[in-house]
Amino acid sequence: MKPLLRSFSFLILLLSLSYVQAADSRPNILFIFTDDHASHAISAYGSEINQTPNLDRIANEGMLFRNCFCTNSICGPSRAVIQTGKYSHKNGFYMNGNKFDGTQQTFPKLLQSAGYQTAVIGKWHLGEHMAPQGYNYSEVLVGQGPYYNPIMLRDVDGSGNQVRTKYTGYTTDIITDLALDWLKEGREGDKPFMLMYQHKAPHRNWQPGPKYLTMYDDVTIPEPSNLFDNYETRGRAAHEQDMSVEHTLTPDDLKLTPPRNLTDEQLAAWNAAYEPKNEAFRKANLKGDDLIRWKYQRYIKDYLRCVASVDDNVGRVLDYLDETGLAKNTVVVYSSDQGFYLGDHGWFDKRFMYEESYRQPLMVRWPGVTKPGTVDEHLVSNVDFAETFLDLAGQEVPADMQGMSLVPLFRGESPDNWRKSHYYQYYEFLNNQKTAHMVRRHYGVRNERYKLIHFYNIDEWELYDLEADPREMRNIYTEAQYADIIKEMKADIVSLQKDLEVPDDRGSVESNPPSLQPRQQKPKK
Ligand code: CA
Repeated sequence: MKPLLRSFSFLILLLSLSYVQAADSRPNILFIFTDDHASHAISAYGSEINQTPNLDRIANEGMLFRNCFCTNSICGPSRAVIQTGKYSHKNGFYMNGNKFDGTQQTFPKLLQSAGYQTAVIGKWHLGEHMAPQGYNYSEVLVGQGPYYNPIMLRDVDGSGNQVRTKYTGYTTDIITDLALDWLKEGREGDKPFMLMYQHKAPHRNWQPGPKYLTMYDDVTIPEPSNLFDNYETRGRAAHEQDMSVEHTLTPDDLKLTPPRNLTDEQLAAWNAAYEPKNEAFRKANLKGDDLIRWKYQRYIKDYLRCVASVDDNVGRVLDYLDETGLAKNTVVVYSSDQGFYLGDHGWFDKRFMYEESYRQPLMVRWPGVTKPGTVDEHLVSNVDFAETFLDLAGQEVPADMQGMSLVPLFRGESPDNWRKSHYYQYYEFLNNQKTAHMVRRHYGVRNERYKLIHFYNIDEWELYDLEADPREMRNIYTEAQYADIIKEMKADIVSLQKDLEVPDDRGSVESNPPSLQPRQQKPKK
């Protein structure tokens, strides 16, 4: 080799080495995700009914987002939005039961090709028709997965070949054990990683772990002020739903019957904890409001018991990051696929665009960058997560993604062009069929002060002043003084639907999936 060429090659070698070193300094991403965990069950959010010391560590050492909202408040769709950075009508996953098209562009695939090692461990819930795509490693529950003794599907090399393993124990603990195993033994030392560590808890039907079967037995959890909401001023959707504490909770939900898949030992511990409580309930022969109050207590205590195990296990993972020094260069993000009604409006479950289930918790810890103990008020969304993860990895955000990177907010900046309103659309209501929880299709827009909702197949509108009425008890749509606000917000909906390329679903017969015809634009006068 000629000397000049040799020194040129040496220069190239040096440059590529420095590139590798630069690549190594990119942060790891740990995405901690739960299912149906409402922010008002997290003490960092000021919960009046719960303490979550480990989850609070993330907010105390980082940033808490007060206004994170999902685009479609239901499990599978929220996960599909996070994978793709696109609304349901773009990623094709409108409602639970749809199959996620894993061949499409997702952020884990893009991170993988950018040199990240990617893994997902825990609840996937985007269908078993194909293994998770875009991951070097996955070990996921089958469907919803049970609270005890889960079967999990493991793909050790992203080939799509999955091995089934039946575990014995409590699922929240098992998912954490597997995530820690991967952190300890599964990582390639020279690559940054992105791990999605995703719990089933605290999804229905809220079966507590062995450690917490009797937690809260001797206390009464405060009731929400609108547990006995009568939906005055609201339309058919709120009246006709099937998700009330009073009518919808089943004997299984209420633990009047034990879970069916427990080992003898687990069942004995379960019955020892629940039978005395159930015996007292049967003797009391409660009726009317007293029965509703009892159901609320049983429901909320079990929900909080499930959260307690999540909190413990998140603590184990945070401790591991601290002990190994990984914490220093790892961005930890905590969120849940949506919020949940904790007896609010007399409900459990989600789906509606009302605050309790529309809002997602979002807490982010990024040592050395995000100022500890900060609170952000910008309107952000699960449609921003994919873009954020790509930005953290120094990657371009593809133009067809529909959200915005949150990285400037993590840095404490306040970009001028941030969204002033957020668009929502929920689809899971099938015409003339019994649909889970019977919540009507709706779209809507929320800005800092107001929320306008349209239940479009029954053409009913609702408007709320979130400042005067944060619990959304008074629909002011028909009050004359709001006419201008309504006009502006309707124009905003039209504009957002146009920008997001939302197809017109109003003419559909609420079939599955909604029509993908382009929205008819009215000719301009
Ligand atoms: Ca969920």
